[in-house]
Amino acid sequence: MVSKLLTRTPLEQLFKKNDTSIALKKVKQTDHGSSFWPRFSLVFVNDVGQNFVICDKCRTIVTYKSSTGTGGLKKHLASCDKITLSNTTQSTITTYYTTSK
Ligand SMILES: [Zn+2]
Repeated sequence: MVSKLLTRTPLEQLFKKNDTSIALKKVKQTDHGSSFWPRFSLVFVNDVGQNFVICDKCRTIVTYKSSTGTGGLKKHLASCDKITLSNTTQSTITTYYTTSK
């Protein structure tokens, strides 16, 4: 069984077969300035938080590490929004840290 941090490829494979070890959890919003968090879910495998989140809209796996911050999420949302609708979201996104434990 998988019980540690996965890389993207095995994670994608688990998603493809709807593996039951995968759990998605919403980020608790403590900062109303982080308007992009409601659009992602944290990825857990066997209750181990992974270095990835998944976009609720297009189900793309996006790298997220607390050490590197939310830049990847912002980048994804920018391209994700371009694909379909181009609504104006707030650009006042401040630095946001999650405490995973
Ligand atoms: Zn997306």
